[in-house]
Amino acid sequence: MTELKETRKEEKYDVIVVTAHPDDAEIGIGGIMATLAKKGKKVLLVNLTDGEPTPLGDHDTRIKEASAAAEILGIDRLTLDCCVNRRLMDSFEARVSLGDVFRKHRPEIVITMGGKTIMASPDHYQAQLITEAAVFYSRLTKWDEHFTYPVHTIKQLFYFPVGAMMSGQIPHNSFLVDISSVLQKKLDAILTYESQFPPEKRQFIDQIKLHNQHFGALYGSRAAELLMLPRLLRLDILDIFNI
Ligand SMILES: [Zn+2]
Repeated sequence: MTELKETRKEEKYDVIVVTAHPDDAEIGIGGIMATLAKKGKKVLLVNLTDGEPTPLGDHDTRIKEASAAAEILGIDRLTLDCCVNRRLMDSFEARVSLGDVFRKHRPEIVITMGGKTIMASPDHYQAQLITEAAVFYSRLTKWDEHFTYPVHTIKQLFYFPVGAMMSGQIPHNSFLVDISSVLQKKLDAILTYESQFPPEKRQFIDQIKLHNQHFGALYGSRAAELLMLPRLLRLDILDIFNI
């Protein structure tokens, strides 16, 4: 899918993924997004910024790359015109802009990166703060003057920052999702970002693949990605043992 088309703007999505930059979500949960799409779920990826400037990129190139990646994964995407790369800050305006996207598209689940990326872009953590607030704002009543669309209640999940993924430490509140059948799709989606991953940086994509294979090996599949819960999950014991 290319940039979200005007005619589809009122559409309901099952899952909305929010990131600071194009390529963040493809690296973190490209496999989960492709799996959801394969199962017929409607997924919308919201990039809070266009990710520019970068050494080899420009605005149009990044949009083209992001759209090509979304096409491969079978999802829709849009860039929210509220925020600027490198200057992304948790602000009331950004929270309300994103909250209205949630109210408009009424997702069951919102997923964003969870945790700081120390020694890398602080935008990622700001995106987490904006998203958490927007999920909260989305369900608040008696605040209609700030929003175009009615209240909507959402569940939230987080994905692992890439640096944390590479540390090999798995947080206690995480769970693995099998992405065996879509691992190649995920890698192909990341490869569309030629401006970010020129040949001398392709090793990074190999490392992502190895980590996904490692996570898969932990529970006997070819590849997996991690998601984190915001709090303890209540499960029926019969569901756990599938009896
Ligand atoms: Zn990023």
